[in-house]
Order: sequence, then C-alpha cells, then structure tokens
Amino acid sequence: MAEKSYLDLKSGVWDAKKCSGCGACVAVCPADALSFAEGEMVACPKSNGYCKQATDNVPCGACYAVCPRTGSQPDETLGTYLDLLSAKAAFEIPHRQSGGAVTAILANALDEGLIDAVVTVTEDPWTLKPSSAVITKSEVLVRQAGSRYSWWVPLLAALKEAVVTRKYTNIAVVGVPCVVQAIARIRSDKNDLLYPYANAIRLVVGLFCTETFDHAALVYGKLEKKYKLAPHEIKKLDIKGKLDITKQDNTHLTVPLAELDDTIRPGCRICTDFSSLYADISAGAVGSPAGATTLIVRNGTGKGFVESAIRNGKLTVVAGTDTALIEKLAAAKIRKNSSK
Ligand SMILES: Cc1cc2nc3c(=O)[nH]c(=O)nc-3n(C[C@H](O)[C@H](O)[C@H](O)COP(=O)(O)OP(=O)(O)OC[C@H]3O[C@@H](n4cnc5c(N)ncnc54)[C@H](O)[C@@H]3O)c2cc1C
Ligand code: SF4
Ligand code: SF4
Repeated sequence: MAEKSYLDLKSGVWDAKKCSGCGACVAVCPADALSFAEGEMVACPKSNGYCKQATDNVPCGACYAVCPRTGSQPDETLGTYLDLLSAKAAFEIPHRQSGGAVTAILANALDEGLIDAVVTVTEDPWTLKPSSAVITKSEVLVRQAGSRYSWWVPLLAALKEAVVTRKYTNIAVVGVPCVVQAIARIRSDKNDLLYPYANAIRLVVGLFCTETFDHAALVYGKLEKKYKLAPHEIKKLDIKGKLDITKQDNTHLTVPLAELDDTIRPGCRICTDFSSLYADISAGAVGSPAGATTLIVRNGTGKGFVESAIRNGKLTVVAGTDTALIEKLAAAKIRKNSSK
C-alpha cells in the first residue's frame, strides 16, 4: 500500500485549518520540500511541489506519519504520571518564566553529559520573534529561559539541524503539547525515515499550554499599534487569566485575553491537550506557588533527569502543589475546544 504523502496532509490538516504549526512535517521531510511562508497568520506549511512519494513514487510518508493533527485529539486532563510536584531552580535564572525548573533540569543534564543538545525556542529581545534553536551550553540555556507565547517559525525546525546536520545523539526537546504529540509519533511510528530522530531523542519536556498567538498579529498588530508598546520596551510576557506585560522599567500593563482572541493561531482552537500528556516531564506555572514550577514526572526517564538535578543541588522541591487546579484548567480546555 502506498504511504500517505503531503497531499493527504494538505487535504486532511492544512485545508481543514487543523495545523498547529508544530513544524514536525517540515523537520522530517527528507526532500526539504515543506516550509512556512513569512507573514501574519500563516496557518500551515506549503510545499514546493516536489514529493518523493507523490512525484517519484518512492516510499516516504514521513510528514503524514509525524503530524499530531491526523487523528483524534486526546480527552485526558493530567494523563499518567509517577510524581506531581512543585520545584524551583536552586541558582539564579534572571529570565525564568515560573520557577526556572525547566532550565535547571536541562542545564544540569547538559553539565552532567546526560544530553548533548537541547532543541527549544529562543527569542530575539528586540523583536520578541521566537526561533527554533539548538542549544549545547548550560549558560546559553540560562540566558534564554522564559516562555515564548507567540508563534513565528515551525517550532521543531531545529530538530533536523540537531539530528541530521550536527549529528547529536542525546537530545532533549522542549515543546508545547502539539510538539510533544509529534515527538511521540516520531518515537512510536515504524517509518524507517523517522528512526534517526527517534534514536537521538533522550528527553521530552512538555510545557502546559492553553494557546499560542501569531507573532505579527500580537506584537505588531495588537501591542505596538493598539497599546503603543514597541517590542524592545517589553521585558516579559506572562499569561495568568490575562496577558501581563512587564515593561523594561518594571511597570506592568495588563490586557484581557478576550482582546487577543483574533491573534490566536487557528490550529489552537481544536487543541485539547493542556498538560503535555505524552512528555517525559511536563512543566507549567499553574498549580504551584508564585516563583515555582509545577512538574509532572511521567515516567522513569523523566524521574532520572529530575532526581539528578536535585542530587546535584540545581533543583529544589517546594510545598504547595494544587493538583485540582491543573485538572480544572485542563478540563476547561477540553470542554472549550472539543466541540469545534
Ligand atoms: C505558548 C505557551 C503557553 C503556555 N501556557 C501555559 C498555561 O496556560 N498555564 C501554565 O501553567 N503554563 C503555561 N505555559 C508554561 C509556562 O509559561 C512555563 O514555561 C513553565 O511554567 C515552565 O517555567 P520555568 O520557569 O520552569 O521555565 P524556564 O526555566 O523559564 O524555561 C522555559 C524553557 O522553555 C523554552 N520555551 C519557551 N517558549 C517555548 C515555546 N513556545 N516552545 C518550546 N519551548 C519554549 C525556553 O527556551 C526554556 O528552555 C505556557 C508556555 C508556553 C510557551
Ligand atoms: S500540525 Fe505540525 S506536522 Fe501537522 S501539518 Fe501542521 S506543522 Fe505539519
Ligand atoms: S494550544 Fe498549544 S499545544 Fe495546542 S496547538 Fe496551540 S500551541 Fe500547540
């Protein structure tokens, strides 16, 4: 039976406005034929017209195999886990989003040689434009701590650079739940073209996620035009029931989330995964006291990385985890988006 091709992805996901922008298809296409155009509200990738499968009838199907939007969406809130705890970095991380636990776990893993690279999303401080990046030094991770709530490039674009170009073999990936779902497919699918990626990924850290916003629509359209706030004047964005903007002079501006509704990426409107159900470790702000990160340790791999960071004095466990609150938000996301 012929493998599916990008044409099946186009009809079933791109044209149906289901694409999350995770970029997994872009990363694994062996012909480098898929890409995202630049611009505002670019909802899905495009093809340059060539396809191993569709043009030359050479077995491929990699793009379709990894896409998290070809099946049904999950309906679990917290999923399975071994431990659910609150923690914070035991060293200074000035730009951390919550407790800096994600950076502490990854920095420890790099320093201990447990991993050789981290595929994550960094940010240009002048434009707030996110980029998919490969980081190999813990001091760079510390500099790049913090959450990027807006979308500009396929999030997993740097996975190909890490695996194929730079040939790292012990990679950690940080991603929002749609990215984590794509990695889960890469790890479990039998397609030969995906083995190099599956073999190289050692750890998946999933962030909690309600939605992402289009970078141009949010930063230029909304914040710059409507709120007269240039990107370089913004120190930090945080979402806690509303968008909380910390300016460079440490004053705050809050924007109701309803104001941002038209900047939400279309693919987020059908997403029902809040807690990164298929990660090794999930991390979020909700459910922990201010200044700490909630960690959901889902399996032995995740446990090993967390315990190593604690043992080496990089991560501290704190009290006060509210599991019911996380479940409530996860259930609200399922309710809101499963009917669409
Ligand atoms: C789009 C988005 C939506 C979120 N929504 C929620 C929410 O509704 N509720 C909630 O409790 N938490 C949410 N989070 C998670 C929260 O903002 C923090 O990332 C989490 O609490 C970990 O904090 P930390 O201080 O341990 O992370 P840090 O130590 O600051 O490290 C964060 C790590 O994440 C990486 N990163 C940042 N942005 C992205 C991205 N877009 N994709 C992949 N990697 C990235 C950074 O490079 C860094 O390595 C969201 C995060 C994102 C990116
Ligand atoms: S959801 Fe991800 S894998 Fe699927 S089409 Fe969109 S970018 Fe590609
Ligand atoms: S809500 Fe978050 S996890 Fe879901 S599609 Fe959007 S970015 Fe991805």
